[in-house]
Amino acid sequence: SPGLYIVATPIGNLGDITLRAVDVLRAAGAVACEDTRVTGKLLNHLGLKKRMIRYDDHAGEGDRERLLALMASEPVALVSDAGTPLISDPGYRLVKLARERDIPVTSLPGPNAAVMAMTLSGLPNDRFLFAGFLPNKAKAREDALSELAPVRATLIFYETAPRLEATLGAIGAVLPGREVAVARELTKRFEECRSGTPSELSSHYAAHPAKGEIVLLVAPPSDEPAEDVDVDAMLQAELA
Ligand code: SAM
Repeated sequence: SPGLYIVATPIGNLGDITLRAVDVLRAAGAVACEDTRVTGKLLNHLGLKKRMIRYDDHAGEGDRERLLALMASEPVALVSDAGTPLISDPGYRLVKLARERDIPVTSLPGPNAAVMAMTLSGLPNDRFLFAGFLPNKAKAREDALSELAPVRATLIFYETAPRLEATLGAIGAVLPGREVAVARELTKRFEECRSGTPSELSSHYAAHPAKGEIVLLVAPPSDEPAEDVDVDAMLQAELA
């Protein structure tokens, strides 16, 4: 039925497309996507021919209005190049407007690099804070890390290979003593999740330059209990 369908797509392994994602893409009147070549490949792999409409970081009011008009009469799927739309990807303004106008919005769960890295890293997961990409400039990056220093949660960042070295340096300086995990090329052939201190990881990647896509995780301050939280015991204590 008409409306907006947010469809998560694979982050490297085409086998991770969900059955429901295929159904919704098949039924869609149009697919809004960041890059028609990237999404064209996915649709092709699924044997689907669809009208694709570009919706990327540069999209403006006009692009949104056109898509919102379509959604009133047919199902419109929103995908990004990889993973869950809106998560460090376009879509937020579109969803906000659709909701304001009472257009039905559905989101299909699926691959997301941050959540996958969190589950893989072995770092505490009772509380985590997804902080997207750190700023590019050194000073802004350090300020962003200082602001996050007191947060009692595992921190999750998206990172790129060329910046990894600088970011590990900044974490070592601003968040001393924290364990860090580098989750790389998730779901792909050379998937890797490596943990250590920032300086251990720096020397490793100095010798073996990191390629591909990276999620960086930083353990909470050390007074954070690292064990699983016993929710039952907590509730019992509260009721007692
Ligand atoms: N929306 C996507 C998601 O749900 O994960 C994220 C899009 S963001 C523009 C791209 C960043 O996500 C990459 O720079 C990297 O930090 C992370 N990423 C995406 N795919 C990844 C993968 N297969 N392995 C590790 N990190 C990945």
